[in-house]
Amino acid sequence: MALSRRQFLGTAALTTGGVLSAAVAGAQAKSSSGYWVAQASGPETDTIRLGFIPIVESAPLIIAKEKGFFAKHGLGKAEVLKQANWPSARDNVTIGSAGGGIDGGQWQMPMPHLIHTGAITNNNPVKMAVLCQLNTQGNGIAIAGMHVGKGLGLNITQAADYIKNFPATNGRKFKAAHTFPNVNQDFWIRYWFAAGGVDPDQDIELLAVPPAETVQGMRNGTMDAFSTGDPWPYRIVSDQIGFMAALTQQMWPFHPEEYLAVRADWVEKHPKATRALLMAVMEAQQWCDNPANRAELIKICATRTYFNVPAEVLTPPYEGRYTLGDGKPAVNDFKAGPLYWQDDRGSISYPYKSHDLWFLTESLRWGFHKGVITDLGRAKQIVDEVNREDLWRDAAKALGVSNIPSSTSRGVETFFDGVTFDPANPQAYLNQVAIKRV
Ligand code: CA
Repeated sequence: MALSRRQFLGTAALTTGGVLSAAVAGAQAKSSSGYWVAQASGPETDTIRLGFIPIVESAPLIIAKEKGFFAKHGLGKAEVLKQANWPSARDNVTIGSAGGGIDGGQWQMPMPHLIHTGAITNNNPVKMAVLCQLNTQGNGIAIAGMHVGKGLGLNITQAADYIKNFPATNGRKFKAAHTFPNVNQDFWIRYWFAAGGVDPDQDIELLAVPPAETVQGMRNGTMDAFSTGDPWPYRIVSDQIGFMAALTQQMWPFHPEEYLAVRADWVEKHPKATRALLMAVMEAQQWCDNPANRAELIKICATRTYFNVPAEVLTPPYEGRYTLGDGKPAVNDFKAGPLYWQDDRGSISYPYKSHDLWFLTESLRWGFHKGVITDLGRAKQIVDEVNREDLWRDAAKALGVSNIPSSTSRGVETFFDGVTFDPANPQAYLNQVAIKRV
């Protein structure tokens, strides 16, 4: 009978004990001893089906597969599967891998919390576990070229009347798009409009539209703004479709962006594989943030299997180089682009509960999912149910990670307009923002 390599190692480890242990540990000596201990007991499965959307947020999942980090940690058959769009990803995780769907993957926030509570799954809750943050930054607000010279920058106070009076001059409201309602890209553009005195629910039309359709609308004069992620900001400017009003890193430096979350039933059934998954993704995140690896990262992500774009369009954002247009100075700072492992505020990968709480507080601000996210008390409960920062810590310790945060809160967050979010007092944030539905 032929034994697989894993069966062989498992059997051999049992029969020869310390001798083989020493040999294997020696072969993998560059990792901490904790890493080998995790492998000795072996994950419960060597596979997981993870969904991704072809934007820079997904790079750690792609790299974990392509650079062998999944395999190194015993998940050699892990699959990284392109999702047609966010609704498809949601539907596929609701089905689960047993039904041909996915076990988890990349999410805008707070999609895991909304799936967990049934808020976006026809009241069919599927318990979810947030395991780590994938990235920070890499997103922005793009504006159609017809609005050049109207003051549409980071602060649009001076352009508010132009936007509000748009129907009088153009016969329709100023129209803005994101790719899925009530999550990151919707939140970023709402924050930006509201900070400038424009009510995103009353003064403009704001809706979910597929990216290709949005860009076509920006070309032909039927779409005015797009809340989007790299590489779209680069393409919109380089293809002369429009300009960038702001990058999200200018709105909120080192803000939370997208996350890895998996069905809670998968995590409960596979505790060792969950740790292996996290260790692999953490190693991939470290690899992604090494500037020496960025050229290879771009080459891998640009391929047909993943983003299916020319490598050239990924290079500027991955070097932190953005041409904003409309008279704004260009940005040229590695730390202004998408980052995956460490930023000036500490760990990117660690899933701070304080960030989950901001997303749910912002949901309350805009009156999203009122029957589910009823108040701040319920918001905190949902965060405690979904956020598994404890599993992140276990995996980080096993990997010998040095930048493990001491608290589940990153502390006070400050936005470009001076508004602050103190996770210890989210009501004070809701009191500060002028335009709200609460
Ligand atoms: Ca995003």
